[in-house]
Amino acid sequence: MPEPPQEPVAGLMSLGATELSPKCARCGYDQSGVIPTWTDACPIRGTCSECGFTFEWGDILNGDRGKLPGLVEHSRGVGQMLRWTFTTAMWLVLPNRFWDRVHVHHAPRLSRILVSISVVLLAAHLMIAAACIMLVLTRGAPVGTVPWRFNNVSYRYPELLSPLIEPVAQISVDTWRGSRFVSVWPLYPVWAVPATALLACILAWPLMFLALPVTRHRSRLRWEHVWRAGLYPTWVLGLMFVLNRIAFLIRYAGECVDSILGGNGSANLASAANGLFYSLRPIAWVVVAGWIAAWWYFAIVRGWRLENGRTLWSVLLVAVAAASALVGTFAWMLLVRMSPFIL
Ligand SMILES: [Zn+2]
Repeated sequence: MPEPPQEPVAGLMSLGATELSPKCARCGYDQSGVIPTWTDACPIRGTCSECGFTFEWGDILNGDRGKLPGLVEHSRGVGQMLRWTFTTAMWLVLPNRFWDRVHVHHAPRLSRILVSISVVLLAAHLMIAAACIMLVLTRGAPVGTVPWRFNNVSYRYPELLSPLIEPVAQISVDTWRGSRFVSVWPLYPVWAVPATALLACILAWPLMFLALPVTRHRSRLRWEHVWRAGLYPTWVLGLMFVLNRIAFLIRYAGECVDSILGGNGSANLASAANGLFYSLRPIAWVVVAGWIAAWWYFAIVRGWRLENGRTLWSVLLVAVAAASALVGTFAWMLLVRMSPFIL
């Protein structure tokens, strides 16, 4: 005698689980068709028929499990966002620490990754600029006014504006043949090229991941996960920015000490720091490139647990290296072509 068809698990039905339309956290494949096949109990684990991902049903049915305390993407309010930016930044130092914590069922909020770092950098910039302005006010100021358009403006005002625009340009007030004039010096040519190269190196990974059929098709990964891994490395640019601002702060402090003690120590300190910076730069490039490669390795192997993850990562590494070499050669050729015009 055939058994009468059994009702699906009553508890889940009352929770409205079938209306939740649960999706595979890795590939987004709809799993709701599986739930009516459960008869007497809800299994703890399931396997996605589309991408082969093994997951815990609780992770995709319980919305609270999609939130990870400490991950900046899940922060609420500005205060928590600022605190969790530092927490997340600490996890980023060692990529395995980040990807052991952050899993595919933790809902990606991509805009938060960029908004949080922008707010932190703006706050850091304003605080350091305020400190620099205090140091300018502390050191002895020349008396007098600036001629021509600035004759109603105190000598100090253009100088005080400088710390605010400093990573881009610098304002100086100079005296020439007895009259003072204000100059604006662009500073961006120094760092714009390495910063662009670093950004290209950072973005090459997600773009290559999405462009290569071998990684895109074989992984069947939702694009949000690729961009979560693609956007966090932009925080390295943020770190560079903060280090650059701290270097300016040290220089201002040195100039302040010089004006009080009457020496020229800050110029010596600045040239020594400059020399150290240029000698460390090749090492910094190797460290950053190695960190990005390790970051993607742990994303693919530990975070997303992709099948043949090591092979996919190796293919990606070769593709990114080839693309970087191609872009680098093109940029170099362009520079050689342009040099008669810009030098
Ligand atoms: Zn799946």
